[in-house]
Amino acid sequence: MERCSLGLNMLEMNDCKHFRYNEIKKGSGEKKLHKLYLTEDMVLWEVEGRSRNYIIIEDNFCECTDFQVRVLGREEKSLCYHLLAKIIGEKLELFDSKELTDEEYDKMLESRM
Ligand SMILES: [Zn+2]
Repeated sequence: MERCSLGLNMLEMNDCKHFRYNEIKKGSGEKKLHKLYLTEDMVLWEVEGRSRNYIIIEDNFCECTDFQVRVLGREEKSLCYHLLAKIIGEKLELFDSKELTDEEYDKMLESRM
């Protein structure tokens, strides 16, 4: 059986109470995970959260509080929910891709300062 990069197979992922596979998908094929190209090889990921969107860099960084506090700060766990959603969503190709213009990139950064 195929395993994801976390070592879970598809059945385990559907069973896992921490795994909210259906939340990665919206109705009618709309995606909650976006791959944003700055240049051909510079990529950011954006995950739509409940109240706002979070930027993710590779499999290593999420800007949410959970990641800052429990992953980086207390080292209680190695992933936040958004990173998990990104890793699985990428694997299952449940994302859409978009090229970011410099303007959109600036706006995105500005909104976070
Ligand atoms: Zn997060």
